[in-house]
Amino acid sequence: MVTYYPRRWVDRSRQVSLIDLAVGEEAMILARIRRTQVRRTQTGKIIVEIDAFDGTGYLHVVFFNQPWRAKQLREGVEAVFFGKLERFRRVTQMSNPVVDLIGDRTGKIVPIYPQSERAGLPSWEIAKLVDDAIGRMGEVFDPVPVQILDRLDMLGRTAAIRAIHNPSTMAEKFAARRRLAFDELLRLQLMLRKSKVEQARSLRGISHDVSPMFGSRIHTSRRNAGLFSEATFDLKEDGQPFLAAEFFASLSFDLTNAQKRALDEIANDMRLPVPMHRLLQGDVGSGKTMVALGMLLMAVQGRYQGALMAPTEVLAEQHWITLSQLLKGFVVPGSRDSGLFEDSERSIRVEMLSGKVPIATRRNILSGLASGAIDIVVGTHALISDGVRFKSLGAVVVDEQHRFGVEQRAALKERSRTGHGLDPDVLVMTATPIPRTAAMTVFGDLDLTVLDEMPPGRTPIVTKWARSSEQYSKVIERIRSEVADGRQAYVVCPLVEGSERVVAKSATDEFERLRNEELNGLRLGLLHGQMSTRDKEAVMEEFRAGRLDVLVATTVIEVGVDVPNATVMVIENADRFGMAQLHQLRGRVGRGAVRSYCYLISRAQPDEANPRLEAIVSSTDGFFLAEKDLELRGEGTIMGSRQKGRSDLRLASVAKDRDLVELAQAVARDIVGDDPDMVKFPTLVRELAAFQNPQESEFIFLS
Ligand code: ADP
Ligand code: MG
Repeated sequence: MVTYYPRRWVDRSRQVSLIDLAVGEEAMILARIRRTQVRRTQTGKIIVEIDAFDGTGYLHVVFFNQPWRAKQLREGVEAVFFGKLERFRRVTQMSNPVVDLIGDRTGKIVPIYPQSERAGLPSWEIAKLVDDAIGRMGEVFDPVPVQILDRLDMLGRTAAIRAIHNPSTMAEKFAARRRLAFDELLRLQLMLRKSKVEQARSLRGISHDVSPMFGSRIHTSRRNAGLFSEATFDLKEDGQPFLAAEFFASLSFDLTNAQKRALDEIANDMRLPVPMHRLLQGDVGSGKTMVALGMLLMAVQGRYQGALMAPTEVLAEQHWITLSQLLKGFVVPGSRDSGLFEDSERSIRVEMLSGKVPIATRRNILSGLASGAIDIVVGTHALISDGVRFKSLGAVVVDEQHRFGVEQRAALKERSRTGHGLDPDVLVMTATPIPRTAAMTVFGDLDLTVLDEMPPGRTPIVTKWARSSEQYSKVIERIRSEVADGRQAYVVCPLVEGSERVVAKSATDEFERLRNEELNGLRLGLLHGQMSTRDKEAVMEEFRAGRLDVLVATTVIEVGVDVPNATVMVIENADRFGMAQLHQLRGRVGRGAVRSYCYLISRAQPDEANPRLEAIVSSTDGFFLAEKDLELRGEGTIMGSRQKGRSDLRLASVAKDRDLVELAQAVARDIVGDDPDMVKFPTLVRELAAFQNPQESEFIFLS
């Protein structure tokens, strides 16, 4: 009961009176009900009308389709109404406001509990039960040492629990909430930090031979020293160029400073005998693939293997093509130890493994991975399926896209440990940026690198929201004119509910319709998840080669598809997509130097506001959009299933408590230090144990 927290607090002493309020404002009014009436409209709808008096004036409140309000809001009841003040026939009124019942509670600040109006368990009854529980609670166990609390200027836990339910001032309420929210975040950060330090202790990593020349400087200045910041082409001690450096020197463009910094951080980590666990965040198009490739080459350099894991078949396929092309002509350096096996130079071998690879090919690839003949493997989840064994996996890149959880990471590590008994270095890449505090919460056990710079020469994408059929015909015109200029376009089909088959059917219908009507005469291709790998490959290949003008696709193209000649992205029923998805889809165009266009088609309601679509139209900055998304949707979706069971965030909000998240992380780092057993903090150990195992949670409330 005592942790059943109020969802709001009404400060009676600071109530604004009706007489002082202007029409059009959002207001919160505490008033006593004088009259309640029920009416029925001609169309049979029920309207409940209430007159309430706040001491300075009358408020008329109207509820549509909420017949139960008549029982709830009877004459004499005192209630708080939240809503927009309107003026209707010279009467001040609110329609369908949010209502909180205060009951006969006195006191200046009244807590409002999440209540069930229909079930008839109102806030004030809950408040009575909570009061009673608090009266009997006594002192609760406070696991955070008092020195830490003093330093952070935090209330004790008992005081905080009392004050959150019955604050005497709003300031006290804030302080109480701050302490209790901090506890939630601290538990989470302690667990993340512990597991990180535990891993660093128990795992043995590979000390890759990546930048011996700068060894001494790397320790003193992690940021500026290293392989790529200062030189683009380095020689090893024995006069051989570093594979990665040689590769980057061969590209037609320079790496961005952000890419160089990221590669430096990775190189520094890979040198160390502790396995790297790093999260690479970068906006769509910031060039994460190059960083991934650099890391894989650092492993291959020392004759270790690299694995790149993609969330979809199409993306794995594309990475495989990109890597194979870029690495053509590069060789694996001869191995230094003149053991029993061949140690001469040979071309780098890159293969692809997915669930749909034919049996014979699969067998061949598995044996190549086990023997070490394959240097880099690109694949889907198939990489962590049974039967996959690596000879000497040294680097793993996971192209994340929010679908790859902690369990899969663990599974991949299992597979890889077999060969040489060491844990590979792991880089997780997010497909779209996630807000910093969310990253700290969800990926708190990883180190973070941010690519905060886009490659030069990109023309911003023009984004438009097409609502009317006129605007839609302009979109069609644009597709035709771009195609006439030799460019290409994507049309992403509406999200439909149902099985993969239903989705595929709807995409096929859309494709047929466009081909026969709006886009008649153009060369259209169709891509959806139900197609065979071979067919998907063939269509992507046709599109890449420019033999198709328009690709009609489901969201299989959402992540990572890279065809620089495509300049138009049309997203049908854009309102059904999430913001990250829209941003990701838009990122499929604007990859070359020419102007690109993204059209969000949403014909639902002409004047309806849609904050998500408006945000996408207003900005192409993925980090900004990620913050916005968090703000609009709350954390639920970001935490998602990954977070389930790992957090008990009830008061704390990743969106609103940024400072607390950072504070909790810093405190957790201090507390854990390099001792994952936290022997100096037995009370916190007990607290964590209690929260990890719900049956033991009574512990926390031991007097
Ligand atoms: P993302 O971060 O979305 O995965 P990609 O790695 O697919 O981005 O890169 C997007 C495009 O930019 C690719 O065509 C890639 O070749 C190109 N690219 C990457 N780095 C640079 C750079 N430093 N300068 C110019 N183009 C680059
Ligand atoms: Mg990518």
